[in-house]
Amino acid sequence: MTDTLDEPIYKTDALIAEDIDQYLEVHQHKTMLRFITCGSVDDGKSTLIGRLLYDSKMIFEDQLAALEADSKRVGTQGQEIDFALLVDGLAAEREQGITIDVAYRFFATEKRKFIVADTPGHEQYTRNMVTGASTADLAVILIDARKGVLTQTRRHSYLAHLIGIRNIVLAINKMDLVDYDQAVYDGIVKDYTDFAHSIGIKAFTAMPISGFKGDNITGPSANTPWYKGPALIEHLETVEVDQVSDQLKPFRMAVQWVNRPNLDFRGFSGQIATGTVRKGDAIRVLPSGKTSTVSRIVTLDSDLDEAVAGQSVTLCFTDEVDCSRGDVIAASDNPPQAADQFEATIVWMADEEMLPGRPYWLKIGTQTVTATIQQPKYQVNVNTMEHLAAKTLELNAIGVANLSTDRQIVFEPYETNRTSPNKVLGGFILIDKITNATVAAGMLHFSLRRAQNVHWQATDVTREFHAGLKNQKPAVLWFTGLSGAGKSTIANLVEKKLARMNRHTFLLDGDNVRHGLNKDLGFTDADRVENIRRVGEVAKLMTDAGLIVITAFISPFRAEREMVRQMMQPGEFIEVHIDTPLADAEARDVKGLYRKARSGELKNFTGIDSPYEAPEDPEIRIDTTAMTAEEAAEAIIARLIP
Ligand code: ADP
Repeated sequence: MTDTLDEPIYKTDALIAEDIDQYLEVHQHKTMLRFITCGSVDDGKSTLIGRLLYDSKMIFEDQLAALEADSKRVGTQGQEIDFALLVDGLAAEREQGITIDVAYRFFATEKRKFIVADTPGHEQYTRNMVTGASTADLAVILIDARKGVLTQTRRHSYLAHLIGIRNIVLAINKMDLVDYDQAVYDGIVKDYTDFAHSIGIKAFTAMPISGFKGDNITGPSANTPWYKGPALIEHLETVEVDQVSDQLKPFRMAVQWVNRPNLDFRGFSGQIATGTVRKGDAIRVLPSGKTSTVSRIVTLDSDLDEAVAGQSVTLCFTDEVDCSRGDVIAASDNPPQAADQFEATIVWMADEEMLPGRPYWLKIGTQTVTATIQQPKYQVNVNTMEHLAAKTLELNAIGVANLSTDRQIVFEPYETNRTSPNKVLGGFILIDKITNATVAAGMLHFSLRRAQNVHWQATDVTREFHAGLKNQKPAVLWFTGLSGAGKSTIANLVEKKLARMNRHTFLLDGDNVRHGLNKDLGFTDADRVENIRRVGEVAKLMTDAGLIVITAFISPFRAEREMVRQMMQPGEFIEVHIDTPLADAEARDVKGLYRKARSGELKNFTGIDSPYEAPEDPEIRIDTTAMTAEEAAEAIIARLIP
């Protein structure tokens, strides 16, 4: 192994152990490059990163000793040091020889500092790749010279490009194993060029390397005299990133919190994402669109006349404008847009497939809203770049779909926004409302014009007027429970009793809805979600008409019941859990459905091969093993009309 690095770097890096403050001071004024390495399993990513760290002297002596011992034990490289062991931190991974999470490493050379995200090559770990790529300026796509361009090469290149990385290095690795043959190298470069052009990658830098032997890592290798380009570290040290400085872009700051310690002070705190703000600047608050003028720029130390991208400040205005957490303060003459319907690219990262119509949390910068996604327009085949028809998106799928949010969000198309430090206004994540797991990452393309055209028609005969005419308070009694629990039986009794009390009611159940409005829907998870969404919307219209609505649907998922609750006025939604143990409902088997489900004749049957998520905190819980249907109906009415 040759050491081409000069002595001073070694000294600098020895500082890290002795005097961390001085070390940081030395490094502070260097530029920083963030990059990711990606490729297939066994392409040599970990070895390469280990090599970069080693050659830039970032390994401590004691780590090195441990590494030598480990290499002898589990390493795959005989007596030589196995650099992959440096990076594959976890013991379990070592034994299996795979890497399963994003590992960030820091190293530095004389010219630059680097943060490298090592992302695993297994197909199921797309999410790690997305995580690593979202902050990277450059991607090193590794190829095993013996294998050439693989599915993973294409997938990772496509993702890197999609996420907006414009600097791609094609590192054709393991050249030592193909005898440094130029023909092999040229063949792979040609294959990759064809693919890269097909997905819109305009330029990339290819280089023949061996992470294991050290060829073309820090300097030119004698083994590849035919290669005239830069060595990997040279390239990483000199490549230009971030064409447009964030400070030159229009001013934007997402409000993290409203700072109001007393009646005399009101300021809006956050980190400036892009641009510059000065005292006296005209600003606009979005989505409201209200304008004002900056009166003070407050920081912990003192007031400033001017602040730039990256700084955390508190802004005060000359007027009392409404502005809360999640709002965006922007240059008045060049503001971002606000909308509630979008087209977006979505990278699905959860084991459970995407459910069109289901409400998810959408987080974009400091804004968190509820979003529902429509059926995808298409899914992308990452091998061929073909657009495929899709009803949903499964783990690792990448697709394009329209989505709508429950209120306006401030946004900018991902493309124009991508280089800002926290990419506040273009990239988003989707979070499952029940499990709180991140299920997807996405990029907003543009708002749908439509959103601007749909306005609520203000009607003169209001919902209050309708309810007043009927002399009642509208409500939704939402029955949920297993098939055969007793929902229809009890709902029917409740409606009869209410009718006798001169109440205006309507009973929505599976029969009158599934045969008409929802006859196009089946019983897959996605169809169940859409079924409930439509029932919710109909129930909502009926409450607007002043009715007491009773619904009797299994409605197995918490997320959709919660969605319907959110549609209604506060207090109008009454969740009634008809709680009958599966064994009892199955024993009743009124419609013979359980028998069919058990024999496999009937698929996706709730309780058998499709889940039922019981309410955690329903307004009313009816235990049908403890009371008759008649008693249950009385109890419900007593709760509704005290
Ligand atoms: P679901 O609408 O929930 O599928 P159904 O109301 O159609 O259920 O069927 C429930 C069955 O259970 C009916 O045959 C009903 O007579 C019987 N049953 C027995 N005990 C009760 C009870 N306490 N409450 C409601 N139904 C009961």
